[in-house]
Amino acid sequence: MINIFQLLEYFSSFIRIVLAVYFFLQMVTQLGASPMYLANLEYSNPKLKSLRNDVKENLRASRSHNENIQLTKLEFYVYTVSKSDNFFTIMARTGMNLDSLSSVNELASPQDIFPGQKILIPNMRGVYYNKEIQTNSDKERIAIAKEFKTLPEKLFFDESRSKWFVPGGDLQGREKMFFYGFGFAKPLLASVLSSGFGKRNDPFTRNETFHGGVDLAAPQGTPVFASADGEIIFRNKKGGYGNLIIIKHELGYETRYGHLSKFLVKMGTKVKKGDKIGEVGHTGRATGDHLHFEVRRFSKRQKPVFTGHL
Ligand SMILES: [Zn+2]
Repeated sequence: MINIFQLLEYFSSFIRIVLAVYFFLQMVTQLGASPMYLANLEYSNPKLKSLRNDVKENLRASRSHNENIQLTKLEFYVYTVSKSDNFFTIMARTGMNLDSLSSVNELASPQDIFPGQKILIPNMRGVYYNKEIQTNSDKERIAIAKEFKTLPEKLFFDESRSKWFVPGGDLQGREKMFFYGFGFAKPLLASVLSSGFGKRNDPFTRNETFHGGVDLAAPQGTPVFASADGEIIFRNKKGGYGNLIIIKHELGYETRYGHLSKFLVKMGTKVKKGDKIGEVGHTGRATGDHLHFEVRRFSKRQKPVFTGHL
């Protein structure tokens, strides 16, 4: 005869086994969801081969209006940019297009790529919808699908970003324009480029440093213009920048104007492209009169960018 205690004991060991199996399975699934790494972009790399194949198949599926041709799950590979890479080689090797790489990595421009940077390569072309607040609702799914002329079932809601991903979608008009640098105007009428963007020898310490903007030499008092429409979100002294103005633009962009001798706008002022905002000077860490000009996208990004818009 089995008594009640024995029964309880059997029951508890049964529960323990069930729990062990459950946790093991959970661990395995989590491993499956961990990022996949692309060690290199050699065509012989089997992971690259499989990625390129997925991209091709998913492109076909995203374009098809046949509900039976389905997309695979949205997944990302992580790739560390090497010295010999640039935006366009990475794009070509991975079967991506400009819009997809830019949108997934929130790049400010095709120059916004540097060795050592980790970038994400999705297993399908497409873009994130760029409205600031998005919710996982059928109403939004249908509205966005209509905007991109695709079927609602093809869209993914990415919980980690709280954004809709549109397979096969393109960057929307203004986003594309900014990405190419056409959204910005010259901050000075006439100037000489005295220091470019990227690595340089620091004029003070002579050590190699990274210059996150461009230096435009012009005499003190030269008018400085807003490079695009936006709002003044900073107008003060800031370390090496000296007197600095930061303008916040749409789509996460901001421009910075350093070493100013004079401020001509207040905090919170809404400015139009071409409005006079200050005057050139040499405040902060500057060897002579010049404007330090930067373009950034999303303040969390530490990589300031200069595109060929000057
Ligand atoms: Zn500078």
